[in-house]
Amino acid sequence: MRALASLYDPRRWPGDRLARFLAFIEAGQPGRCWPWHGSRSRRGLGRYRWREGGRTFSVYAPRMVWAIHRGPLSPEIEVAHRCGNAGCCNLEHLVAGPPVVRARLLVQHGRSIAGSRHPGAKLTPAQVDELRRLKREQPGLTGRELAARFGLRSVAWVNSILRGAGWRDPAAALPPAARPPARKQRQAPTNRRR
Ligand SMILES: [Zn+2]
Repeated sequence: MRALASLYDPRRWPGDRLARFLAFIEAGQPGRCWPWHGSRSRRGLGRYRWREGGRTFSVYAPRMVWAIHRGPLSPEIEVAHRCGNAGCCNLEHLVAGPPVVRARLLVQHGRSIAGSRHPGAKLTPAQVDELRRLKREQPGLTGRELAARFGLRSVAWVNSILRGAGWRDPAAALPPAARPPARKQRQAPTNRRR
């Protein structure tokens, strides 16, 4: 973990590697997402690789962006997107904190592991509501028909959603302190430019 942490220490990065890294970021308007034009992880995060001493190293682009502007990151601190766009490298859209920060942002963007990112779930919270509404309005619809309509393979999964058991609101699973904050608290002071 320590070796990993040092990867995110920009003071250890030679200038040419840093320049190559930054060249993958399309810097745009301050409030917009700044896309990463390099390779991506499975979760869509920008990823930068290099070879050194016969070994390959890689860093997550948003994490490195944070480290460049705010200083080295320790491994237990996660970097998450306020904008919900994993490919974004705009510092103003990033927030760093303990894992719970990332968890609550995922909840805000409807992409929690507990909810719509569950391997069995292919629905967003809004689609779950829509599915239940359809069933209320047209009780004759079968689980099979609804599954087909929502592009789901598992009829059992649809039925469990209709019973209210298959999809759990991930926000409810978090301790109260971790719930998405009220609007005016959302601007964490740590994320302001000075
Ligand atoms: Zn963004």
